[in-house]
Amino acid sequence: MSDECLRTVPVSLGAEVVVCGGGPAGLCAAIAAAQEGADTLLIERYGFLGGMATAGLVNPFMPYYTGGKQIIRGLFQEIIDRLDAAGGWSHRQDEWARDAFDPEIMKLVAQEMAEEAGVRLRLHTMVVDVAANDGHMEQVLLASKSGWEAVEGRVFVDATGDGDVAARAGAQYEQGRAEDGLSQPMTLMFRMGGVDEKRIPARGEINALYDEAKAAGEINNLRENVLWFYTTRPGEIHFNTTRVVKRDGTSAADLTEAELEARRQVGQMVRFLVEKIPGFENAYLMATATQIGVRESRRIIGEYVMTEDDVLGARKFPDAIARGCYDIDIHDPGGTGTVIKQLPEGESYDIPYRCLCPRGFDNLLVAGRPISATHEAHSSLRVMPIAAALGEAAGVAAAMCVERGQTVTGVDVTALRQRLVERGASLSAE
Ligand SMILES: Cc1cc2nc3c(=O)[nH]c(=O)nc-3n(C[C@H](O)[C@H](O)[C@H](O)COP(=O)(O)OP(=O)(O)OC[C@H]3O[C@@H](n4cnc5c(N)ncnc54)[C@H](O)[C@@H]3O)c2cc1C
Repeated sequence: MSDECLRTVPVSLGAEVVVCGGGPAGLCAAIAAAQEGADTLLIERYGFLGGMATAGLVNPFMPYYTGGKQIIRGLFQEIIDRLDAAGGWSHRQDEWARDAFDPEIMKLVAQEMAEEAGVRLRLHTMVVDVAANDGHMEQVLLASKSGWEAVEGRVFVDATGDGDVAARAGAQYEQGRAEDGLSQPMTLMFRMGGVDEKRIPARGEINALYDEAKAAGEINNLRENVLWFYTTRPGEIHFNTTRVVKRDGTSAADLTEAELEARRQVGQMVRFLVEKIPGFENAYLMATATQIGVRESRRIIGEYVMTEDDVLGARKFPDAIARGCYDIDIHDPGGTGTVIKQLPEGESYDIPYRCLCPRGFDNLLVAGRPISATHEAHSSLRVMPIAAALGEAAGVAAAMCVERGQTVTGVDVTALRQRLVERGASLSAE
């Protein structure tokens, strides 16, 4: 929107900290900022919170422990505790069943935590543009059933997963892998109910039948195998197995095509499972995600860019505000295959605060999936537990900026780290 048009939009809301996007990162950013005393507004396009953990039906939480130690705690641990208390947490420890949670309970937990912290919520509202000058954010522009609105804030946190706010504000970003700009594939998650779990064959057997169905033209899916998980309920199986490649998660046209293609794949997969796989004879499609899952889109260039070497070298940073231990995990952006590169056994890497600070901005932080990282490093740090930890750090930092009248790059990182540890975070130099 032109500056001239923008000036005609009424300013209907304002807050000290404005968080855009209510996924794991934005939820934790908003809760943390409010708990640290900032008047905080959280803007979310859907009618519920949780982001990919709810709208994307993404499950389970990828590892947040290594070498026998839990490396992500803080608000993320509180989410687990509340999921557990509400009956929405899996206690099974086997590889394909652990760390599963109930997405509906997650919606409740997310809302309760935000409301208890005093976060002001604006749901059903999309951030579509910004007013920013010379690296300073002034407003975000909203579109909703109420029409156009503008929101003023002192510090803004972009937790849209796609870096929508930072990109609109003119921040530099990259997309996809270096050689051709392609991002990781998208996946529409789905769940089957009524499965007789005891009769499900070995994974290899399912994959062999899947290969046959692909060869027979019954399934058009570039994914190399069937990826499935147990859930919190017996008889309910979670599938992370559709694959749509060469689409851009920041293009509405591409998202439309991807959504249609993925749903066709779901139909084929359901038919295949019911007809060919023992244990699924009486199974039914019980849910598909509200939206297709976008693994990768924009990566905002920050004061530091995380690399594959940082991840695989388990690098430590003096301004670490979160830790990660998930593998480099790149689902082939062009087709079939998945590249996995593991960290050394029992090791974790640090994520520096500078990755949350878009280059050249004084009152904007990025949290969650689009923080500053290469395609390779992003494939590790994109998972939900890390997004939650990054969000909590961004929220505390934003509140500190408000309280002390500082810029985001002027934050006293020693004080930030100390505050995060006091809040329960696990940082490597504790
Ligand atoms: C297919 C797939 C499989 C995955 N598998 C796993 C897994 O098994 N385990 C794991 O731990 N992680 C997994 N991940 C990664 C993880 O789900 C995401 O990377 C993580 O949720 C990122 O958190 P986030 O808060 O940064 O973004 P998101 O979870 O994407 O949340 C962003 C939020 O912002 C809102 N939003 C976006 N744009 C706007 C806007 N312009 N205005 C207002 N609101 C907006 C969205 O509605 C959403 O609520 C997977 C991801 C995908 C896509």
